[in-house]
Amino acid sequence: MESETWQEKAQSFISKLEHAKYGLLFNSGVSAICGILASLPAQSTILVGEDFYSGTRYMMNKHFGERFTYLPIAAGEGHVEKIREVLNSSQNISMVFLESPTNPLLHVYDIKRIAEVCKEHKVLFAVDNTFCTPIFQNPLLLGTNVVVHSATKFLSGHSDVCGGYLGTNDEDLYTKFHSSRERAGNHLEDMPSHLLYEGLQTLKLRVHKQHQTSLQIATYLSSHPKISKVLSVSHSPLHASQSTGFTGMLSFYLNTDDFDKLSVLARDCRLFKFGTSLGGVDSLLDHYGGTMRIFYSKQEQVERGYTDNFFRMSVGCEEAKDLIGDLEQALEKI
Ligand SMILES: *Cc1c(COP(=O)(O)O)cnc(C)c1O
Repeated sequence: MESETWQEKAQSFISKLEHAKYGLLFNSGVSAICGILASLPAQSTILVGEDFYSGTRYMMNKHFGERFTYLPIAAGEGHVEKIREVLNSSQNISMVFLESPTNPLLHVYDIKRIAEVCKEHKVLFAVDNTFCTPIFQNPLLLGTNVVVHSATKFLSGHSDVCGGYLGTNDEDLYTKFHSSRERAGNHLEDMPSHLLYEGLQTLKLRVHKQHQTSLQIATYLSSHPKISKVLSVSHSPLHASQSTGFTGMLSFYLNTDDFDKLSVLARDCRLFKFGTSLGGVDSLLDHYGGTMRIFYSKQEQVERGYTDNFFRMSVGCEEAKDLIGDLEQALEKI
């Protein structure tokens, strides 16, 4: 055991939590996802979620745009049947790739039933489990072929590591991913692996605390007159059926379109830092809709749910009453 590297130690720690026979650490979450994409046949179609992490979307469209066709599947009523229908009518689907819950709208997909459909059609099913962490949800146990993580987020937990993880129980897939990682040289180096390993020791403590605090904040925001809507998975029976909890992610819409007022919230919070990452011990507030203005037209912002008044929050490990107090004083100024 003494000859194990930090990478091997961190890798097998996560693999145990995810019930994965094989695990691989990459130098970022997106790089792990690229490892999967590189293993798929060119000119095939990939089914993706309607909402998912913007960096994954960017990579798929800009760098793998000519290699694959992407077909978005909306979450909600009938999504499993929709996937079945698409798989029945096309031979050329190489993978279903989903986040559940999604970043940032927290949509939930029926992982178990989708896994059954994929298995019938021999189509690869990969789930990005970054938001839930293996403490609360295990996609491989629900039947997926691959589980993906951005280790940059909850797994390391201190916003000091950029890393990614792929887990599988399939030896052939592992061999493909391993070969792609070794040739590209995008494995996780010793120092970040060490930091990740240290972070993993408190993963369970952190995410349970974040989960509890985010529930309290969701309740507080839901009854606040300046908030028009709170997105949280705490009321999703589907999510409850496939996981044992959630972390600290929640999103909300402010009750105004006045862009100057919207910027005030992020500026005037003191405990919440203003930033786009997530999953660390420090709470972060992201004016998501404000950023999406640059990438999408007004019409697209509305269609996607990323309007100017849309915020995403990553709840850290501070005390709930302090975080609520911070939001209270910032919301008063709007
Ligand atoms: C951040 C994130 C990623 C990408 O991870 P990096 O480590 O930043 O490359 C992938 N999926 C989700 C859901 C994320 O939030």
